[in-house]
Parts: sequence; structure tokens; C-alpha cells
Amino acid sequence: MKGLSDEGGLFVPETLPKIDIPLRELSEMDYRETAFCIMRSFLTDFTDDELKDCISKAYDEKFDTDGIAPLRKAGNAWYLELFHGKTIAFKDMALSILPHLMITAAKKNGEKNEIVILTATSGDTGKAALAGFADVPGTRIIVFYPKDGVSHVQKMQMVTEKGKNTLVIGVNGNFDDCQTGVKKMFSDMDLRSRILEKGYRFSSANSINIGRLVPQIVYYFYAYCSLLKKGVIKDKEKINFVVPTGNFGNILAAYYAMNAGLPVNKLICASNENKVLFDFFNTGSYDRNREFILTSSPSMDILISSNLERLIYAVSGEDAVKNTAFMESLRAEGEYRITDDMKEKLNCFKAFYASERDTADKIRNLYKASGYVIDTHTAVAASAYDSYLKECGDMSVTVIVSTASPYKFAGSVMSSIDGSYGEMEDFALIDELSRISGVPVPKAVSEIKDAEILHKTECEKDKMMELVEAYLT
Ligand SMILES: *Cc1c(COP(=O)(O)O)cnc(C)c1O
Repeated sequence: MKGLSDEGGLFVPETLPKIDIPLRELSEMDYRETAFCIMRSFLTDFTDDELKDCISKAYDEKFDTDGIAPLRKAGNAWYLELFHGKTIAFKDMALSILPHLMITAAKKNGEKNEIVILTATSGDTGKAALAGFADVPGTRIIVFYPKDGVSHVQKMQMVTEKGKNTLVIGVNGNFDDCQTGVKKMFSDMDLRSRILEKGYRFSSANSINIGRLVPQIVYYFYAYCSLLKKGVIKDKEKINFVVPTGNFGNILAAYYAMNAGLPVNKLICASNENKVLFDFFNTGSYDRNREFILTSSPSMDILISSNLERLIYAVSGEDAVKNTAFMESLRAEGEYRITDDMKEKLNCFKAFYASERDTADKIRNLYKASGYVIDTHTAVAASAYDSYLKECGDMSVTVIVSTASPYKFAGSVMSSIDGSYGEMEDFALIDELSRISGVPVPKAVSEIKDAEILHKTECEKDKMMELVEAYLT
């Protein structure tokens, strides 16, 4: 419920549990049963009944496929489609369940205050969190997005949100500005006591909240077990995961899955042109002092990857003092360099990046070769996998984590396939995408077509707190 610690640090499990159910056994389970087996070893404060209740409310008909997280083979890799939820991005996997976990936790703790979810979004978290918390009694949700840094569909999804307990604000800045502003509010003790007097308590739906990460561990096990069940891999065979990365939440969940016993060969961290993580894994130096680039994969346009803090903690031998020094250096100087010992512990990671050109080429080439259309974020990962293969020649079975539906980025996706699509208007492109891919237009897209714009507030990055206080009267 707390989101962030009082000092502004992130919560981590005291010890990572080992999943001791045989993978063969897990592979006979559906998504909900798998989620229960994995999550109960992490979220030990919940009873089995509470957890089962949260899971059954989260992973239901909101998803447009029974499998919840299906795998699809295209080219030389398996694509784990995590975009079958309400807002057609992988954020739904965690944000469908987070509100239920939070309400359950609030009840258990006798919480009397209204919970106010403060969210910074690079585009996808915003709508997924709004969808999860809209009209949930006892909660309000405030979302800050970079007003010129999200796709048309992403923006429309957010500003047409109907929930009565929602506030959506466009910030004149980038995602890092939004995230920094939100983190500042969390660690502002004066603000916290002022709003507490009015009966509110802040919490976070960003992946800085451990309640976001734990549900993401599930689909790594589920993907592995699906391959096992299909006979693609043998029991205990190690596989690769390629993860299109921004705030480092998704790939950190993969790392936790590996440490909990999932047989993983390499975790391949894919960046777009904001390649701060590529540089970090290759040099040991994290340096955010660089130009922020707006790309066609906006959910990965991030220079401060918050969840890396949790990885740094793990490889520093869980040394909180050391960890704080790195984070302090990041805050003050915009950079830090880890020791060689620590870097050695990162050998399970490989990092690559894709330029805008690589990304577009990948979308077009995969479509031409297989008929499968992927979104820009997934294409960054697929292109990074090509680079990995070229460099390492490793033939292990590989899962590319597909984080969004191509419909969410129809403009960029279609003009990658054919330059002449650039002339077409958004909804015409969406129909054309449906025609060429044979995939019906998802409800998340068709329903915004004629929806009324309900949220028009915009602000400067230093005015975020004022707006929050004005809203919480
Ligand atoms: C959020 C997001 C990412 C990045 O995930 P992180 O957990 O922030 O690394 C990648 N792709 C899409 C489509 C996203 O919405």
C-alpha cells in the first residue's frame, strides 16, 4: 500500500522465495492457477482465499483470450502476447490485479483514509491504471503524462476516461519529469500530513510499487510452462527472454523469476535510442546526462529506469548503504559506476538497442516474411534479438516479450510497413491494419473513436503538486 519507503527507496522482498512446484506440474495449470502458485510465495501477508479472490477478479473476461498470455511463433522466436487485456498493453497484466490487492490490503489494515493513486506514465501505465481503479470505492487516481510524448491512441484512451474518481493531467515535460514530480510528492512529509488531515493517503501504481512487479513474475513461468507443454523445450532446458525495456520493471520481474528457479539462459534487455541501459550493461556506468529522444516506442522513452535500483541492490550483496550512495549520485550527478564485482553478477543480462530505422525495418521484414504484425516496442526487442544472434550465435529457444498491440501505435506501425500509409488518417489506418493483419480491431481502440474528451488539464512540471492539492479538497 505504501508504494515507496519513507526515505524514498524501493521495497524489495527480504528473501526471494524458491518456487518448488515442479515445472511439469505448473504446465498443467491455467493462468489463474499459475498466478496463485507464484504470487502466494511472494505475497505472504495475504491468505490463500484473499489471493484467489483477487486473481479471479483480475484475470477474467476483461482479457479477450482464455489463455490470458498466449504465445505465438513468428520467424525464429516465440512472441509472448501480453496485450490481451483491457488497454491492450502489458501493463494490464499487473494493473488488473493491483487494485484488488490494494483494497484487500486496506481492509486488512483497517485503513480509514481514501487511497490516492499518484501515477506517472510514459503512455501505457496511465490508461491501465485508470481502467483498474476507475470507480473503485475508497480510491482516487491521478495520472500525469508527458503531453507531447505519447501516441494518439494512448492520449485518447486517457483523456476520455469516464471514471468519477479520476484526474488526468498533461505535463509540459517528458516522462522523467512526470516520474520525478510524482516521486517528490511521495517523499514530501509536509504534503503527506496536509493531505492526511483531509483524509487521504498516497499510494503508487507505478512499477516502483512491488505490487506491480509480483504479478509480472507469473507470466515468465507461464510462458516457460506453455513451451514445455507444447513440447518445444525439455524440462529444465534454459531459454532466453528478450524484454523491451523502459523503467526496468518487466525485465526485473524476469530476473526475480530466474532467481525463484525458472531455467533462464539470458535476459536480453532491449532499448530504443534512449539507450542508457545498453550503455550501463556494457560499461558498468549509468549516465543519464544525455539528450532525451522522442521515439516511436514512447513507453520506453526513459532515462531514469527506476527499477534498476532493485537490481543494483541485489548485486551489491543487498547492501542498502552502498545502494543509497549510488542512487544519491544518480540524483546529484546524474550518474554512477558500479564495481567490477557487481558487474560480474550481471552476466545473465545482455543488452542491445534498436535505432528508429532498425525498429521500422523489423516490423516490415517480419510482416513480409510471416504476416505477423508487431508493435514498435516489440519490434525494438525483436531487432535486439537479431543483434544478439549475430553477436552470440546462441540457438536457445527464445521468447520475445510482446508488450503492446500494434493497434496502439498504428501510425508508426503502418508507415513502417509501407511509407505511403503516412498520408492516411488514424482511424483509416486502424481499419487498414485490421485488413492486412487479419486481427479484428480491439474494443479498446474502437471505443475511443467517438468518445468525448473529458480531461483537458495541462500544467508545467513545477505545478504538479498544486494541482494535486487543489483536487484533494
Ligand atoms: C511500459 C512499457 C514498456 C517498458 O516496460 P518497463 O517495465 O517500464 O521496462 C515496454 N513496452 C510497452 C508497450 C510498455 O507499455
